[in-house]
Amino acid sequence: MDKKNPCGMDRRQFLGRMGMGYATALSLMALHPLRLSARSQTTNSTQTGTDAPEGGMTYRTQRGTGEKISLLGFGMMRLPREQEEVDRLVDYAIAHGVNYFDTAPVYGGGTNEGITGRTLSRYPREKYYVATKMSNQHRDLWSLERSKEMYENSFRQLQVDYIDYYLLHSVGGGGLETLRGRFLDNGLLDFLLKEREAGRIRHLGFSYHGDVKVFDWLLDHHDTYHWDFVQIQMNYLDWHHAGSRRRRGGDANAEYLYGRLEKLGIQCVIMEPLRGGSLANVTDEVCTQLNRSRSGDSPARWGFRWVGSHPNVLTTLSGMNRMEHLEENVATFSPLEPCPKVENELLARIADQMSGLPTIGCTTCAYCMPCKYGVDIPGNFAFYNKEVTEGRLPLPEPTADDYDQRRTAYLEAYRAAIPDKARANRCQDCGECLKKCPQQLPIPTHMSHLVEMTRKKRVRDSLH
Ligand code: SF4
Ligand code: SF4
Repeated sequence: MDKKNPCGMDRRQFLGRMGMGYATALSLMALHPLRLSARSQTTNSTQTGTDAPEGGMTYRTQRGTGEKISLLGFGMMRLPREQEEVDRLVDYAIAHGVNYFDTAPVYGGGTNEGITGRTLSRYPREKYYVATKMSNQHRDLWSLERSKEMYENSFRQLQVDYIDYYLLHSVGGGGLETLRGRFLDNGLLDFLLKEREAGRIRHLGFSYHGDVKVFDWLLDHHDTYHWDFVQIQMNYLDWHHAGSRRRRGGDANAEYLYGRLEKLGIQCVIMEPLRGGSLANVTDEVCTQLNRSRSGDSPARWGFRWVGSHPNVLTTLSGMNRMEHLEENVATFSPLEPCPKVENELLARIADQMSGLPTIGCTTCAYCMPCKYGVDIPGNFAFYNKEVTEGRLPLPEPTADDYDQRRTAYLEAYRAAIPDKARANRCQDCGECLKKCPQQLPIPTHMSHLVEMTRKKRVRDSLH
């Protein structure tokens, strides 16, 4: 008989939560049926949204305008390809009170704003709030002219004449120099401030990843720019352990980011509430601890409840590309039951335990892709992280009797999960991906460690 995962996560939940390529994820599941074969979520009504009442959604009030924003926001980045399927998801979301939809010009290889526009424009404009971004990260787009083209194109794609939430996309990467190049020296920020005055942008903010000096600089100039909101990465692991999980820059814990924003009265939009799905795919040991405190809730629900318990959070983005995730999340937020102190303390202890694991801080966002040498970067990291969290890494150095057996199992699992041409040994250390990773991960260094894991008969070094 299959071993049950004490958190009750089923295969479909695992696939989507990890944000992995379908084939890769399916291979991983096939390799480890005992760990991932669990009771269907339909056996636990607290984890499904099929009976989530319409009208039960929790809302937060946007300061200054009094608008009611659903605490669950729809991250559109990983939408299905078929428009009908997107429409079905959006119809369910809107019927259940979700009214915040987040996209960007760069999502979906440039197609995401168009899909979002087509699905939302079926509704009266006042029914939804749409967020999009100035994704001029590439140096070729730094001129005012090119950036304005991107800005105007967002209106066309979204089929709107005003944008509710407009963000300077992913500031922090490249430090202050890049911020100056993208937004200050070219006059772009001045232009966007005028657009806000004119009402074409209703709320102006920025999303932050990377160098905390940029975050601080922008907030130090709040009197000049009057940020309406800021989007940050926040979850119970990054609250105290963000710095320890990245290698360069990006060393600010979410507690610091949230605390500064709260003091300034700037509301937060939260991204990565489940840290790229890793907080939905926790170890059996963690599941047992969670279940002891509150039986039957999925790890994802714990993660969302923790985020939503913070009063300065305006909305919590979740990339819901499958109906079962949408249903579960709608149920979690309808209404959101805040975590009491005892649960917060439990999650803090669990975060401490997790931070000791040598996982790679990849959120599987795929911003680094494609790799011109074919490496499936998020797929490799997701595989490795899964092996770590499920205790299958053939480390430490093999004094253990079962070392050879574990190493063989690791190699076989790796070969089955990652196609030959997408494996870590294809990495040529070209460095192209480094500038694209919002988590500031030393991707080629990690790749070379992954290669070591598969090459040596005896693994002598851990990844960290
Ligand atoms: S450094 Fe490696 S993984 Fe990154 S883009 Fe270059 S070859 Fe691909
Ligand atoms: S950009 Fe960074 S965090 Fe995103 S998938 Fe690539 S390595 Fe992972």
